[in-house]
Amino acid sequence: MPGYELWSDHERKEVNEVLETGILMRYGFDGPRKGIWKSKELEAAINQRFGCQYSQLVSSGTAALTTAMSALGIGYGDEVITPAFTFVASFEAILSVGAEPVLVDVDETLTLNPEAVRKAITPRTKAIMPVHMCGSMADMDALQALCKEHHLLLLEDACQSIGGTYKGRSLGTIGDAGTFSFDFVKTMTCAEGGVVMTNNADVYTKCDGYSDHGHDHLGADRGADLHPFIGYNFRISELHSAVGLAQIKRLDEFLSIQKKNHGLLKSYLQQVPEISFRRIPDPAGDSCSFLCWFLPDENKTRAVVNELKAQGILAGNFYWFDNNWHYIRKWDHLKQAITLNALSPELKARVTEQANKEFAASDAIMSRCICTSISLLWTEEQIREKGEKLVEVIRKVLGA
Ligand SMILES: *Cc1c(COP(=O)(O)O)cnc(C)c1O
Repeated sequence: MPGYELWSDHERKEVNEVLETGILMRYGFDGPRKGIWKSKELEAAINQRFGCQYSQLVSSGTAALTTAMSALGIGYGDEVITPAFTFVASFEAILSVGAEPVLVDVDETLTLNPEAVRKAITPRTKAIMPVHMCGSMADMDALQALCKEHHLLLLEDACQSIGGTYKGRSLGTIGDAGTFSFDFVKTMTCAEGGVVMTNNADVYTKCDGYSDHGHDHLGADRGADLHPFIGYNFRISELHSAVGLAQIKRLDEFLSIQKKNHGLLKSYLQQVPEISFRRIPDPAGDSCSFLCWFLPDENKTRAVVNELKAQGILAGNFYWFDNNWHYIRKWDHLKQAITLNALSPELKARVTEQANKEFAASDAIMSRCICTSISLLWTEEQIREKGEKLVEVIRKVLGA
């Protein structure tokens, strides 16, 4: 999945152009920057590559989610439906705007189960936030229909699925807004960074202001800007955008390597009839950053994980069920609503109630699931070795 693996002269060249002028900030300094606007250029490249009308770069994927929610008017008293299998940033961002995360089950797509979403809708639901986890997508038709029926906003967390599509449209550009993360381990990186994408001019204008202290960016200079609302500072720097600009030009190369390596590894696991694979609503749109597969039950899955560990080859194979970043089971800080600053008692009660629900349907899926991250650096020979080794371990466990 990670673009950092193919760091090159292209990235160095873009960064050096910024270092030459020394103008590291994305706004202002029109003269001294000598026509170099890496952030603006990267936003234009994002609009073009992913097919959206507007994009706002920010300092991280988490900041992108917070910015998008603020621009969409999500806040006090609002419920946001999001999956129990995601990265912690999803609920962090919801809490950051004072809204309530409503966690629901995933299905074998490893993303929101639309029926579970339907059951979780209340008069206070404001938005549905699917997370396109591990390179592939949620069932967007079903979720869009629910949003239409119940007049809800659709915010896509596409941070892990850069380059994925659903029925021909880029993930992250289908809902009212969508986000990517360009942190160091994502499909393309800025070192740190993120973006909000939207086709709604009003949402974009709000993102632009919110991420830079509410500046309207309409003054003759920064000092003359007005502040129509209170914002925050989630600005990206020109150095980060320069890295991203080099990477977006190489994205299609990254994706094609990813797809090739994914397909090859899958061909080995397909030899084991007891293995099944993640359901992908639009297989052509899989970005292939991970290959996710299921074993028949939790005990066998744990036995495979233990054997991989014992043989020193677990790295790159993720058993999210036991992982403390990505699955509800280990989010003790959320279950106890441990924050450094006081939450309103009402919000705290809601957070602990949500986080302590049963997620039996998700447990039944996640306890059998292993996701193998796809490296861009693997040779065919290495994939063969990996594939054969995995199959050997699985057969040993299943035969026992
Ligand atoms: C990486 C990630 C984020 C947050 O991105 P950062 O840039 O690391 O803040 C949000 N959601 C998901 C699903 C992610 O994988």
